[in-house]
Amino acid sequence: MSFSKVEALARGELESLQFDRLGFTLEQAFKTPFYRGRLKEAGIGEDFRPGSWEEFQRLPFTVKDDLRAAYPVGLLAEPHEKIVRLHASSGTTGIPTVIYHTKDDLSSWAGLVRRSLCAAGAGESDVFQNMMTYGLFTGGFGLHYGAEELGMLVIPTGAGNTMRQFRMMRDFKTTIVHATPSYLLHIHEKMREEGIGREELFLRKAIVGGEPHSEDTRRKIEELLKIDVYNCYGLSELNGPGVAFECVHKAGMHLWEDAYIMEIIDPDTLLPLPDGETGELVCTTLQRNATPLIRYRTRDLTRIIAEPCACGRTHRRIARIMGRSDDMLIINGVNVFPSQIEEVLMRSRGIGSNYQIIVEKAGALDKLTVKTEIASSAFSDDTRSMNALTRYIKEALKASISINPAVELHEPGILPVWEGKATRVIDTR
Ligand code: ADP
Ligand code: ZN
Repeated sequence: MSFSKVEALARGELESLQFDRLGFTLEQAFKTPFYRGRLKEAGIGEDFRPGSWEEFQRLPFTVKDDLRAAYPVGLLAEPHEKIVRLHASSGTTGIPTVIYHTKDDLSSWAGLVRRSLCAAGAGESDVFQNMMTYGLFTGGFGLHYGAEELGMLVIPTGAGNTMRQFRMMRDFKTTIVHATPSYLLHIHEKMREEGIGREELFLRKAIVGGEPHSEDTRRKIEELLKIDVYNCYGLSELNGPGVAFECVHKAGMHLWEDAYIMEIIDPDTLLPLPDGETGELVCTTLQRNATPLIRYRTRDLTRIIAEPCACGRTHRRIARIMGRSDDMLIINGVNVFPSQIEEVLMRSRGIGSNYQIIVEKAGALDKLTVKTEIASSAFSDDTRSMNALTRYIKEALKASISINPAVELHEPGILPVWEGKATRVIDTR
């Protein structure tokens, strides 16, 4: 397998490249109203150039609320004429965050995506069907340009309209799809419903991302659709998809360290954690002209896998994202991540692809209900076997999250379907 020299730089060379590029990022940052104020407050002068990681840690963190406060142009480092695109994410508070791109920014992003897709074994003879939403959300455009740069035939179907997706996959012999894991599970369900045979499709790989999912979900998609599934991580603040990507060894995602400095911190103390410990991922952009970000707190929880990868790339890997620090549910005082529940469901035989987690008040206490669809092959009218399955799921969940949930089994096709990112948790407390 071949890849560019920068993907296999010796660690020392990679780090000096990072420090060089950090100088550029600081220069750009001082051009923005937001960072001029923020860096001054932190006692950082315009000529500050960290020469070590200790010095680097003098730089202040940036959080999502800073981006909101800087809306619309507080984080813009380039004149209007240089900007060719923006992406914005809506968020829950109503104030969006906006990231601007120059032509060079878009081209380095496409380059990262191209190399990511190569790492996953894609090549120019592949046909790439992009089932992610195109628009302000970065999932669609993000992979689109990198896939074109790699030379694949790109079919920009966007999300949804599942029957059209099938027609396109079949007629143009799609070999690679890009979608959320929940949409791929839905696709499988729909194939069964519509009687579409696997042999009618030419699929060999799927790139999945946009939402947390467990190793068991990957395995489930691989088995159901008989394809090879690769994890792709990113967030709009750091461009979008293509920040970190699995190579064919599928043992964590290489985070492209020539484009980002990564740190894992303890979200409470904000202190750096040693490699291998799980904490919040923090990234500094190194190649972005229009919207530089310094020590951006992603809120995503993961850990660094520092051991060298068998593929030969030297960029360190991060483990599958466990969830966001703000996804954690506190149920009667116990911390629960939705991903723990998902893991149990996806590895349980007889359980389908769709589920929902409901948390509500019941008197003074919190009540957790897990609603899940049954696999169509396991669905039966025999209440005894359904009760046994319910009991089994309840016990498996109890063992994993130390809470006794109510479990409701539903027949396939009952729970809401998600074409993009799924909303699994309904918390009415
Ligand atoms: P929003 O912040 O509105 O959800 P983004 O598209 O920027 O919009 O979403 C990025 C977030 O999606 C990440 O911060 C992370 O929480 C989640 N995410 C993206 N890719 C993955 C992945 N492969 N695994 C787990 N979570 C992911
Ligand atoms: Zn690798």
